[in-house]
This record gives sequence, C-alpha cells and structure tokens, in this order.
Amino acid sequence: MSQRIGVYPGTFDPLTLGHLDIIRRGSRLVDKLVIGVTTNPSKQPMFTVAERMEMVRREVASLPANVEVVEFDSLLMDFAVSQDATMILRGLRAVGDFEYEFQMAGMNQQLNNRIETVFLMADVSLQPIASRLVKEIARYGGAIDKFVTPSVAADIARHLQRGA
Ligand code: ADP
Repeated sequence: MSQRIGVYPGTFDPLTLGHLDIIRRGSRLVDKLVIGVTTNPSKQPMFTVAERMEMVRREVASLPANVEVVEFDSLLMDFAVSQDATMILRGLRAVGDFEYEFQMAGMNQQLNNRIETVFLMADVSLQPIASRLVKEIARYGGAIDKFVTPSVAADIARHLQRGA
C-alpha cells in the first residue's frame, strides 16, 4: 500500500507553539508529514529561510520520525505534487483566518483536484498565537515564553540584539 503523505506549508517566522501543536496533530494523520518552509519574501521575514529551516528542524527533532522539513519556493500545489502528497494541512485559528484559507483552498482545488486541503485546530490555549504578534511583543520587550519554545525565544532575542 502506498504511503499517505501530507504537506504542512508555512512561513514559520518564527515557529510557535501553535505550529508545533498542528505538526503534532498532523503527524498522526499521515504516514509522512512534510513541513514546507516557504521563502515568502513578500512577508519580509525576520529570519532567513535557512534560519527558519534550522529552527523547525531543531524543534521537531523530538517528534516522531515521520516528520520531514523541506524548503520550497514554488506554487504550493507543485510542491505538494513533488513530495507525492495527497493532503495539504493548514491550521485554523479564528474567523479571521477562515476567509483567506477558504479562498486559497478553493483556488488550490481548481489547480489540482486530487489533493485535499485539511484544516486542523490547535489546542484552545494555543489558538491565539500568531508569529506576527510574537515578534511585535518581543520587539517591545514583552515575555514570549508562553508562545514559543525557550530556544526559539533565544533566537528572537539574539536577532533583536544584532539589529539593535
Ligand atoms: P503562512 O504565511 O502560510 O500563513 P504561517 O507560518 O503564518 O504561514 O502559518 C502556517 C499555518 O499554520 C497556517 O495554516 C496558519 O493558519 C497556521 N497557524 C499559525 N499559528 C497557528 C495557531 N496558533 N493555531 C493554529 N494554526 C496556526
């Protein structure tokens, strides 16, 4: 029987506890979960794609071995096909996410109707977490330890010191 492969794409700038929860849940649904780290220059990320790849790899090292981390810089559907995936996983936080995700899933369905987008909810306590807000809180010196792992918090602190 062929393996069931899922792709979880994102910018992960930085990886949060919300992302990690979605990864943990998603990895139970598939034989192999490929985390696709996008270069996404339009978002002007705090961390380079190489830094984000390293961060995600380090943080998933303690998870089951069916999780892989791959960089991508292409159309999501092309990336999914290149990974032999039949499923795209996305996390949904609130109604705010819904409209964008709904539209993207709909357009992706038009591009390739054989790959399904599956939405997962993070644990209720982790749902409000957003990378953008984590960066904003950290820039103003706030505590981010409830939102990211200690090593990601250290990455952010180092980055902010460098920029200061
Ligand atoms: P993108 O630029 O593709 O939105 P992100 O890194 O911001 O990349 O998010 C990747 C995915 O993880 C998205 O589907 C997003 O909705 C989801 N996600 C992010 N934070 C959370 C969270 N706290 N709970 C559930 N899903 C989340």
